[in-house]
Amino acid sequence: MSLAAPAGSSRHGPPSPGPALAPADLAAAPVGTAPPGAGAVLAIDLDAIAANWRALRDRHAARRIAGVVKADAYGLGAAQVAPRLAAEGCRHFFVAHLAEAVALGPLLPADAMLAVLNGLMAGSTAEFRAHGLVPVLNDLAEIEAWANAARAAGTALPAILHIDTGMSRLGLDARSLERLAQDPSRLDGLDLRFVMSHLARSEEDVPMNPAQLARFRAACARLPRAPQSLANSSGLFLGPDYHFDLGRPGAATYGINPKPGHANPMRTTVRLLGRVLQVREIGAGESVGYGATFVAARPSRIATVAVGYADGYLRSLSARARAVIAGRAVPLVGRVSMDLITLDVTDLPEADAHAGAWAELIGPKEPPDAIAERAGTNGYEILTSLGARYHRQYLGRHPGQPAGEVR
Ligand SMILES: *Cc1c(COP(=O)(O)O)cnc(C)c1O
Repeated sequence: MSLAAPAGSSRHGPPSPGPALAPADLAAAPVGTAPPGAGAVLAIDLDAIAANWRALRDRHAARRIAGVVKADAYGLGAAQVAPRLAAEGCRHFFVAHLAEAVALGPLLPADAMLAVLNGLMAGSTAEFRAHGLVPVLNDLAEIEAWANAARAAGTALPAILHIDTGMSRLGLDARSLERLAQDPSRLDGLDLRFVMSHLARSEEDVPMNPAQLARFRAACARLPRAPQSLANSSGLFLGPDYHFDLGRPGAATYGINPKPGHANPMRTTVRLLGRVLQVREIGAGESVGYGATFVAARPSRIATVAVGYADGYLRSLSARARAVIAGRAVPLVGRVSMDLITLDVTDLPEADAHAGAWAELIGPKEPPDAIAERAGTNGYEILTSLGARYHRQYLGRHPGQPAGEVR
């Protein structure tokens, strides 16, 4: 199952140890070490991500799952997350874009598979080869281009074949599958690492899941034998029939609940703290923020926090979200603006809500799924929107450091 990187590849093997570590306690995270000028701190707990990944792996019937690290590891930092997953034993990685793979490849062990879900775009075969990447082949033209490249190179090239079983997004449709089944020589020269498909409604208990499972099995039966992969995060919870040879969980690794409506079995992996810049007193009848959408019904104290929609704190959270200051929940009032939000801290002691205090916006008490519900979206979008202006702190063991040694 290993992919030897070709000569000239930029895959160098694992990186050297990361920077100094903070204690791996998300709830006690990291304000003490934030720079004095930091307006917001995003703590990302690599130990929690690793624990989630191991829990998902142990749930898998063959105990083999990939690391899905597209979109910068769902916003949490592929350069930190992927090497940590590799240190946990992960040897199969998926990104969406070729450029993501090119950037990540040098940080992974040389025997890891790194696959590009968006496939083989015309003209990109040389780059896939140079970086030792595996394209997910999504149609007959991609199969032909990659098989031609294999022929020209005189060597088998690794590939994943994507069969559409109901997403109608990427992958071979029924007609293309039929043509491939009629003429399997189209795959000559390809080293089929996996045949895969993707579930559309795996977080629900609906007939579409067994229908996709049946379509996937039928498709695989018409193709040359190869390892198979179907389940995303929630798919792993549909039972071992869905597990095949490789699971591909993304979201649950990062703490998103794979079983909506049930208690979340995953650990929260992020904590976002925004700095209170000012606390002001306003009289009854005075308004707060753009559009004057909040009007105080009583004399109030308003804390202004240095996080806004430019940081991915969604504007749809206006008047809907809450924050936690000194252990107590306070409501967000008025609109989320580009760089700021406003919290009603009237009910907090002045000693707790003051300039320089920290407001927890995401964390174990207010996880991404809860925020998503308030914003009318899903936890995936909350995580992948996490902004570039946050001071990021990685908690837990970085690759290269022995287990248990946490400074
Ligand atoms: C994103 C993605 C995954 C991971 O899905 P999650 O729901 O985040 O677990 C798996 N497979 C494919 C094809 C994907 O695009």
